[in-house]
Amino acid sequence: MPNLATHLRIGVLTYPVFVFLYNVVSTLVKKTAHLSAFDLALGYLAFILGSDLPDLDSTNAPLRNLTKVFLYGFAIYVFYDFLLEKFRAVAFLANTPEPVLGLIALGTSLTIGAGLVNMFLSLPMFYHRGFVHSITFGAIYGLLVYLFLKPLVENVIFVSVSAFFGVFVHLLADYRNRPWKAFKLW
Ligand SMILES: [Zn+2]
Repeated sequence: MPNLATHLRIGVLTYPVFVFLYNVVSTLVKKTAHLSAFDLALGYLAFILGSDLPDLDSTNAPLRNLTKVFLYGFAIYVFYDFLLEKFRAVAFLANTPEPVLGLIALGTSLTIGAGLVNMFLSLPMFYHRGFVHSITFGAIYGLLVYLFLKPLVENVIFVSVSAFFGVFVHLLADYRNRPWKAFKLW
């Protein structure tokens, strides 16, 4: 199985090809949307993270840990504002300075993220090359990226499709000897 470095290298090399094909298909269906440098950079991050993400279920610890800490970033995005607001409303924290409240909210977000990610990873479906190595997982990842970025990014479809194909490129690399397995649904 290719290691982290190989998967990342494959991700970097295939991203321009993916963008080219995306533009060709967009032109064919006459939906040419101009991709800005920001769209391309964001699509790149989603693609690169996707090209490593399936090995979240790997027994290879550095790679698993790297992927996990990246995912905690999503927890900050989901929980930080909500928690900060709640902490501001708590009576016994009324005189707490704002930077301290921010610190508590950030620490709590990361703790929740770590708890959730580790809980999910202990589920039986996360055995190596199980569900996380499937196009359904790629689609879920793409959907999450879509939901998270929709309020923030104009070209969110491109970034979500990049996320999905990042995972797909990972599957193709893993199953290069049996490429049909890259299309397995779970
Ligand atoms: Zn893999």
